[in-house]
Amino acid sequence: MVSLTPQDAGHLIYLHDAYAAEVQTVVLEASEGRIRLRETPFYPGGGGQPADRGWVRWEGGEAPVVGHHQDGERLWHEVGGVPPPAATGVRAALDWAHRYAVMRHHSAVHVLSGVVNHLFGSAVTGGQIYADRARMDFALEDLNRDRVAAIEAEANRIIQEGRPIVVRFIPRAEFERHDLVRTARDLVPAHLDTIRIVEIEGFDAQADGGTHVRDTREIGMLRVVKTENKGKANRRLEIALSV
Ligand SMILES: [Zn+2]
Repeated sequence: MVSLTPQDAGHLIYLHDAYAAEVQTVVLEASEGRIRLRETPFYPGGGGQPADRGWVRWEGGEAPVVGHHQDGERLWHEVGGVPPPAATGVRAALDWAHRYAVMRHHSAVHVLSGVVNHLFGSAVTGGQIYADRARMDFALEDLNRDRVAAIEAEANRIIQEGRPIVVRFIPRAEFERHDLVRTARDLVPAHLDTIRIVEIEGFDAQADGGTHVRDTREIGMLRVVKTENKGKANRRLEIALSV
């Protein structure tokens, strides 16, 4: 989970605009196999969401973006081949098909966790998002077939309502009294006075650093494809989406 203030995170375009598939920017620093960009659309991974892949393109060159790493405050992108030198103007482009599929599955797990919480009062204990599926673990003892069917039906009902999914940066005090937020308060670092909230309007809100679609209808039809017993009071649900 990442929560950053808008001032700190202005260059992290994905925190403000999940649909920025391409960004015109400048290389700030380059060293062997890696670059740092003035602005970046690349999500570096974390919070259960996989890292973006893509390319940087400049006059006379192109390099694939194959990974990312953080060095203190600085986010580096690992590139294949010879990186463009500092001060080069580049277009940073996501592998959009991959990112958008991840955004749909990420948004789907918000719907899923909201539904499981509303129906059974269960909290999320873990999860992982992929481009073609996602899984979530819940503090839940019983996950029989009727419950799975109820979860699936309710999730698809919410999705089809076409609820907006909005990102806001809110003061900590507002976060603490927000009636939709279910994120454990102690998971959000104490020093942050501004917190990034992702809210499915009127349904669910989370402190969250990832990327999501802007309307629940973009998620598509949700199916529970697998359930697993992960311990006495821990059940795993795996979902897949169809358009
Ligand atoms: Zn999220």
